[in-house]
Amino acid sequence: MTKNETTVVIALGGNAILQPGQVGTFEEQLVNVDDTCRRIARMVVDGYRVVVTHGNGPQVGNILIQNETAAKLVAPMPMDVCGAESQGQIGYMLEQCLSNHLRRLRAANPVVTLLTETIVDLNDPSFSRPSKPVGPFYSEGKAKEMALEKGFAMREDAGRGWRRVVPSPEPVGIVQLETIAQLVHGGALVICGGGGGIPVYRARDGALHGVEAVIDKDLAASRLALDLGADILMILTDVSKIYLSYRTPEQRALDRGTWMEMVAYAEAGHFKAGSMGPKVDAAIRFARAGGTAIIAELLDALPALKGEAGTWITPTQRRGRRGERATGR
Ligand code: ADP
Ligand code: MG
Repeated sequence: MTKNETTVVIALGGNAILQPGQVGTFEEQLVNVDDTCRRIARMVVDGYRVVVTHGNGPQVGNILIQNETAAKLVAPMPMDVCGAESQGQIGYMLEQCLSNHLRRLRAANPVVTLLTETIVDLNDPSFSRPSKPVGPFYSEGKAKEMALEKGFAMREDAGRGWRRVVPSPEPVGIVQLETIAQLVHGGALVICGGGGGIPVYRARDGALHGVEAVIDKDLAASRLALDLGADILMILTDVSKIYLSYRTPEQRALDRGTWMEMVAYAEAGHFKAGSMGPKVDAAIRFARAGGTAIIAELLDALPALKGEAGTWITPTQRRGRRGERATGR
């Protein structure tokens, strides 16, 4: 194996697992994941230390539907447990495909999926205004019944029906950080932080408890990359670059920019909340601490790492490789 001490945290978007128009059979998901893993395995063979995080929206949504449909037969599980299930499902597919590709490429790196909890602060303002839609759509009547019976916050979603909304708090720290760091150091390819991590809080006595919330996967990946002291945060999605004036006649692709330039573009409203917004925010946080963030299309993962595709978000000046270290654990 070539020596290359560069650590890359990769955040996989929804399209790495499920493509638009697919129903989400296991076979469909496996084909997508396999194609994604072929590219990631190549990075490992090129000597990069790789940590993989991923989204879980459609998968956890399906688990919530299963829970609800079978509620009379099987006790439904809370959201944190559903998040944990989705980390297992997706982690299993990624782990197996990555192992198979690495084996074919004659790389001996172990691959491991780590169930990951992300610490949140119960005083986070998002807890008093839940905003992240999760799970199935309901009629207005059913939604109001659920609000009364279960105390869920329910909201109408862009004319498509009613949905449950949950808080989307800031990721404060990663519970399993030291273990992840040790595994990465030992040469393992680690899959962790799926779906932004299972949201947990630490009580006054130090004990951890799950909470009904969803952490943005890109912000969680940024937190993980900062706390690991990674060199590169690579956010892989379904657009080739960051665009200014996206979907207008003035649309312009960005090849490169400093985090300060990105702050100005974000303030000018170029990035949509809930899609490109959190990605750019994640990139800004990482580059501000001295790292390089890359936002690129999944298919361009390898050229983007070499600076030949995607958008690079850089620190203003060159600094040490170690980013800020959080103390949230
Ligand atoms: P992921 O599953 O990868 O997180 P998202 O759908 O959340 O994907 O985010 C990617 C989407 O962001 C793109 O498909 C694109 O439509 C949208 N987007 C919004 N604003 C921009 C922008 N300024 N430049 C590029 N893409 C943008
Ligand atoms: Mg997204």
